[in-house]
Amino acid sequence: MSHPSPRLAALPLLSLLLMAACGPELPGDPGEVDDVGDDFEIDETDAGKADFGADWPVLRSGKIGRDVVAAQYLLRERGYSLAVDGEFGAATASTVKTFQRARGLSADGVVGPATWDALVAGLSLRQGDTGSDVRAVQYLLLNRYGYSISVTGEFGATTDQRVREFQRDRCIEADGVIGPDTWFVLVAGGGGCGGGGSGSLVAAHTAGQLRLQGPDSEGSSPLDNIRDAEAGRPARRSARGHYGATRVYLNPGMVAGMAQLLSRFGHYEVSSIAGGRHGATSHHYQGDAVDIAALRGAGIYGDTAAVREMMRLCVALGATEVIGPSSQVPGAWTDANHKDHIHCGGWR
Ligand SMILES: [Zn+2]
Repeated sequence: MSHPSPRLAALPLLSLLLMAACGPELPGDPGEVDDVGDDFEIDETDAGKADFGADWPVLRSGKIGRDVVAAQYLLRERGYSLAVDGEFGAATASTVKTFQRARGLSADGVVGPATWDALVAGLSLRQGDTGSDVRAVQYLLLNRYGYSISVTGEFGATTDQRVREFQRDRCIEADGVIGPDTWFVLVAGGGGCGGGGSGSLVAAHTAGQLRLQGPDSEGSSPLDNIRDAEAGRPARRSARGHYGATRVYLNPGMVAGMAQLLSRFGHYEVSSIAGGRHGATSHHYQGDAVDIAALRGAGIYGDTAAVREMMRLCVALGATEVIGPSSQVPGAWTDANHKDHIHCGGWR
């Protein structure tokens, strides 16, 4: 199923007609749904592939976001006619039920693990392939992970290069092929980088490769937080914050991401994790955000190449809430409160 001719030949006629009729300008192509993906809630109720530290997202009526776009592209690839608009409305629910019945699945209209598995089954994509499934890959690489890529539906040399970069960033085999593992990590997040293979951040700090500010008197500094996390303990929040001096386990995905940032970017300085004072609903209080205040020894002020590189890496490594001085990084954004640091939170 990897090469264009047999794969296309196997497609239902409807899909071919749709692809021919719509050309490169499908409704809902990138741009129209770029900004909706970070605000919606995902219910992660079913187990996914635990070895990648993530679960398939569960999508149902009312959901809006990038995962919905991916599912809609995959349904089109399977021969169904529906708009790719990132909104899980009545038409999408009805199409999902039809697809589920055709696959012998429970026709509940909810895209959970079994339905995702069926949607990507047999779609092994590589350079030379074309289709709505290629669009799904390109869309996620651009809009979720911030890679420089266009959504064309054609798996060319640039897509091959970006897929390999993504695979390297996620510590999965960098073969340029979208097989089951890469589909899972593209849609669900996670990857093979976690799990202690990346070395101790405290050791890196002690060796001068990384600066974790602290310690402080209440034990809520970044250095204190990471010491606690590496010892298997929950990290302390600050007494000044909305939760008071309580504790929270750091998201292991964030800690693994911090190690990846170190190896891919080099020296950086962390000014806050679970400590400090933030907005009442901040990811910091959930142990799921890191503030970066200096890059390679230089403080942050304004949009620089290093700032963009760090913001891009945070997005690529799985932070879904990346805010910093640059407005030029896909998947990240800027605001007045983030001129002097980069906030990387909501790690998948
Ligand atoms: Zn922050």
